[in-house]
Amino acid sequence: MLQRARGILKDVFGYDGFRPLQEEIIAAIMARNDALVVMPTGGGKSLCYQVPALMSEGLAVVVSPLISLMKDQVDQLGALGVGAVPLNSTLSPEEYAHNTAMVRSGAARLLYVAPESLMKREVLALLDSVRLECLAIDEAHCISEWGHDFRPEYRQLAAVRKRYPSAVCAAFTATATERVRDDIKRSLLMDGAADFIASFNRENLFLEVSPKREPLAQTLDFLGKNRGASGIIYCFSRNQVDLLAARLSREGYSARPYHAGLPDEVRRENQELFIRDEVQVMVATIAFGMGIHKTNVRFVIHFDLPKSIESYYQEIGRAGRDGLPAHCLLLYGYGDTRKIGYFIEQKPDEMERRVAGLHLEALVRYAENDGCRRAPLLAHFGEQYAAENCGMCDNCVSPREKGEDISTQARMFLSCVARTGRRFGAEHIIDVLRGSESRKILDNDHHRISTYGIGKELAKNEWQALARRLIAAGALFRDPERHGGLDITEKGAAIMRGDETVFGSIRAAAARGTVGARPADHDEALFELLRAKRKELAALENVPPYVVFSDKTLSEMASRYPRGRESMLDIHGVGARKLSRYGDAFLEIIAAYRREKGIGDQCAEAPARRGPLKTPRFVTVGEAYNAGKSIGDLAAEYGVKTQTILNNLFSYLREGHPLRSDGIIPLLSLDAERGEAVVRAFDDLGAEYLKPVFERLNGEISYEILGVYRLYLLAGKTESDSPAAL
Ligand code: ADP
Ligand code: ZN
Repeated sequence: MLQRARGILKDVFGYDGFRPLQEEIIAAIMARNDALVVMPTGGGKSLCYQVPALMSEGLAVVVSPLISLMKDQVDQLGALGVGAVPLNSTLSPEEYAHNTAMVRSGAARLLYVAPESLMKREVLALLDSVRLECLAIDEAHCISEWGHDFRPEYRQLAAVRKRYPSAVCAAFTATATERVRDDIKRSLLMDGAADFIASFNRENLFLEVSPKREPLAQTLDFLGKNRGASGIIYCFSRNQVDLLAARLSREGYSARPYHAGLPDEVRRENQELFIRDEVQVMVATIAFGMGIHKTNVRFVIHFDLPKSIESYYQEIGRAGRDGLPAHCLLLYGYGDTRKIGYFIEQKPDEMERRVAGLHLEALVRYAENDGCRRAPLLAHFGEQYAAENCGMCDNCVSPREKGEDISTQARMFLSCVARTGRRFGAEHIIDVLRGSESRKILDNDHHRISTYGIGKELAKNEWQALARRLIAAGALFRDPERHGGLDITEKGAAIMRGDETVFGSIRAAAARGTVGARPADHDEALFELLRAKRKELAALENVPPYVVFSDKTLSEMASRYPRGRESMLDIHGVGARKLSRYGDAFLEIIAAYRREKGIGDQCAEAPARRGPLKTPRFVTVGEAYNAGKSIGDLAAEYGVKTQTILNNLFSYLREGHPLRSDGIIPLLSLDAERGEAVVRAFDDLGAEYLKPVFERLNGEISYEILGVYRLYLLAGKTESDSPAAL
């Protein structure tokens, strides 16, 4: 039996092994024993009923409260070649009839229904006409009034159970106290059910709590180190969401707001863009996330304090569902505690105040604890965390992994601030350090001070990263009264004296190694090509990109360079169906890439080995360009289109390298008006992708020209952008 289950896991889903408890749960369902499963979000609950559904003859009914989730699952199963259909109120009569026929004929193995639809006469008639093998209840805590999300419709499920006594029942939830668990079992008449309670430890989440000093600078510092990574930033208020989203857009990030105050269609659009990877960052209130199934969320930032440990856990749980490392950063400020405390005080009910107060206290304990973060977090869910060092939280990793020791450079910067009178912005300080001969320097006689020109070994954007780091670390204070002039704090003074050290990554190379941004040591250039292909296919089929393949799957392709269908099947997430559907499209890209790079066969022959990392082409191109070659020269030299060189340079920039802008200026060919339209479009839509900008401008401006403008804007940014302008 389990042999067959493993076969299905591999052939249909493309996975090599089961996750903890999945096998046991499948075995229970196959033996027709009721099961109550508590597993964290992303733990892999769906597979527990999907595999049995494929192993047995009859129909599996999946009860799910959210139509968006239903659609998502049905889409994903469709992509795997599994017959699954939904029945809910949003279907057209034709779709409804079609789906019903699929169930009758046995072509559909899984039927997804909302609880309120399940008791409809025609649905019951449909179920009477087939063999109902398994009743799987998703979000089962909704049945209990003790849970945090009680839905009266769920109460009707008891009647369904009675009507089909021979069907095995499996209830799934991500949150359930013992009381709620008992309630679920009693309400669903499954007294004999076995409990399966998985660990709540999400090993791939890096947990970090940082004192909230300059949240904006801290956020930009984080985003700068995680360029291109998809993430969510949670804020307390709608107003904060709007402000931050606008601010990030101005900084060149593609970010959208999400909160209950926005019109429905705007919310829907923003969410959709985020899911489709067209928008990188979602800035949101806690209204966002429920029912979102995006597997490649690489970070979650809590710009403000969450409400309770439960909500914190649920919110960070949206990161890293594909199992790859993801980073969770909580900005913890005492002011936030007071703010929440105030709201608690306003609650009319004494009991409510007490409970909310306890929640807040637990959260403060979590944030202020200086041992492993996992222990108190898991203790909250009744789980004891035994490991001494988890290696995946800020308190457990050694300072070395927090970045390199950048105290020397920090001292240079701080003493330059001191010597210029603690009143200039970062841009000027950097000019002094790098020995610029600007008017402002000469006017102030700053070319005569001892720190003049001592910092030439770092590029301008590296000094900027350092300045942001120092602001974020609370060593420098930006005085708004004095137009962003920098002053040195107590902590800054301690660093200057050598009493304190600073860790961080300011060099581009160091920034590349940060958690989250690069899931694996794959070939970035190839990964990008595969990602583009995935987007294209997803758009064609009108599904989110991860339905085609997950990031992890692409990442493996980009490090193992599979050569044929055989080796493609070895890749995580590639089963027979996806292979036949998408395999060739991706193999073609990989083959072309190998030819172009002269990557030999030996990589493919040894699939288990990670392919050696060559210097990616975009780095070679970027370096040659900065050394003085023109874009035209490079295109001729490599025998590729100008567009390709532009893309290479964009990747180079995105990796955090500086790019000289004088080689781009001669290529700016639009008149003032159209140039401005392009700039505005990038401003609105972010610079990550050209397609939205191309479309915004009605396709009137070629991709090549857009590529030029994008480079110009971004290269310009690293030249003149200063933390003083934060
Ligand atoms: P949940 O419903 O518990 O939140 P899902 O069932 O959506 O989680 O699973 C989360 C992700 O993990 C999905 O992308 C799923 O395909 C993947 N997954 C589940 N089981 C396995 C497994 N055994 N091996 C690899 N990936 C898995
Ligand atoms: Zn730890």
